[in-house]
Amino acid sequence: MGKLEMLGRWSPFWPVFLLGFALLIGRGAQGWSKEGHIMTCRIAQDLLGSEASEAVRNLLPHDVNGDLSALCTWPDQIRHWYKYRWTSPLHFIDTPDNDCTFGYQRDCHDQHGAEDMCVAGAIQNFTSQLLHYREGSADRRYNMTEALLFLSHFMGDIHQPMHVGFTSDEGGNTINLRWFRRKSNLHHVWDRDIILSALSDYYEKDMDLLLEAIQGNFTDGIWSSDVTSWEHCDDIHSCVTKWAGESINIACKWGYKGVEAGTTLSDDYFDSRMSIVMKRIAQGGVRLAMILNSVFGDTDEGFAAAT
Ligand SMILES: [Zn+2]
Repeated sequence: MGKLEMLGRWSPFWPVFLLGFALLIGRGAQGWSKEGHIMTCRIAQDLLGSEASEAVRNLLPHDVNGDLSALCTWPDQIRHWYKYRWTSPLHFIDTPDNDCTFGYQRDCHDQHGAEDMCVAGAIQNFTSQLLHYREGSADRRYNMTEALLFLSHFMGDIHQPMHVGFTSDEGGNTINLRWFRRKSNLHHVWDRDIILSALSDYYEKDMDLLLEAIQGNFTDGIWSSDVTSWEHCDDIHSCVTKWAGESINIACKWGYKGVEAGTTLSDDYFDSRMSIVMKRIAQGGVRLAMILNSVFGDTDEGFAAAT
């Protein structure tokens, strides 16, 4: 099955498809850039045990050769297609301005108030869908491949601090500024600019080198003693609540702090934020692996997810 076949069913809807592209330039909250999502998924896939590894390979379309990261940006590509428009609010969370906390009941809804329609709710939902795969009770309402891709993508998004941002500025999207000499906005600085600057300043624009550095930091480097606590998860609801809380906390302390519209962010901001971005990518990857190992593994270990 080819990638497009898997996505299927849109072929009669070329106008919608094209409109989707036009709308991609709408609200810019795309989540980590493709680099951020790719690294999150590569980190996760490298940490999978044999059962999870096999399940992931079985669920992926053949043409990606078992590489989960090849499709981790797919949910950003389809979010404005008619069929998938309902997924658009699932990439982020709007929290009250300057409150700097996340309350699931208070904040996890779409703009019409529909419950669970936020990135934290989406992770819970797609995790429980995937549990049906192991149980062999997958029903036709759920497409397990899509559930895997959505889960993998949203685990990246929930760790991007500005994806759990303030409501009035749309997670920094409306805060226009300059990143060094280029026009950007605060959201995009965290989605992509910091990563691209790191790649060009320190890693010869080679994502594999950056990825190795991140993986080195948690295997036997500065974060190695933190990994156990990153992975800790008793139940998926309290975990997504914790992770979203971490993001808005970082957004307040490091994202928004000292930033005004029209400003120019450069070396000071970059130097003090780069390691935070890398750590969030690492945490997203380690925790995605934890969920997939728990969902697809043989053992009953791991968290309890509502089904
Ligand atoms: Zn996203």
